[in-house]
Amino acid sequence: METVFSKIIEGTIPSKKVFENERILAFYDIEPAAPVHVLIIPKKFIASMNDVTPEDLPLIAEIHSVAQQIAAELGIADSGYRLINNCGPDSGQAVPHLHYHLLGGAKLGALTG
Ligand code: 5GP
Repeated sequence: METVFSKIIEGTIPSKKVFENERILAFYDIEPAAPVHVLIIPKKFIASMNDVTPEDLPLIAEIHSVAQQIAAELGIADSGYRLINNCGPDSGQAVPHLHYHLLGGAKLGALTG
């Protein structure tokens, strides 16, 4: 499915990349909600957390490893950060391609529900 993120993966929409390998891309969010706001996405199309299959679990684990690596590289590992996935309408998921928000660089507000 074509989304803004598939266009970013293809390179038809530019992005400021912080990490890339054959499976995963990470880039700065265009509307940052914190001083550090990076999106980490699989290159494989997965619409949302609901669509993750057991075969995808190594990829999901690798995304966590990449988040850990980016947090260290961007200097927020010790101060702390959040890794957030929005899934479905009630969460506010706007882009139907699985993604994780890595947020940090300041004291973050309380989670609200
Ligand atoms: P969601 O609300 O789906 O969890 O998050 C989607 C995120 O994608 C939002 O934080 C939004 O700012 C970001 N975003 C949407 N379009 C673009 C874009 O073209 N470039 C970048 N870098 N981020 C985008």
